[in-house]
Amino acid sequence: MELKQMRSAEKMIDRWVEQQLHFGKSVEDFNETMFVFGNQIFQLSTDGYGGFQTNKKEANNVVVFRLPEEKELGYVCRSCGLDHDDEKAVLECCAFLD
Ligand SMILES: [Zn+2]
Repeated sequence: MELKQMRSAEKMIDRWVEQQLHFGKSVEDFNETMFVFGNQIFQLSTDGYGGFQTNKKEANNVVVFRLPEEKELGYVCRSCGLDHDDEKAVLECCAFLD
């Protein structure tokens, strides 16, 4: 995996966690959360002290099956999966990523 891609994935995970904390979740709620980034999988694990780390998992190939009802999601960023109120917010969401 290219370093740049790795950084993008880490940035998105950090951002996702930040967002979830903002919604009132705690870091412990995310223990063992899996993130799929292209063909790479990252697993988040907590350190028990309110912090977390992401570990890259080896995968030869990743297949994500989407359910038909997921098309009805509305304003969801295709990069990080966060919900937004409008189209503009979706476009701006991960615009900082290349
Ligand atoms: Zn996003």
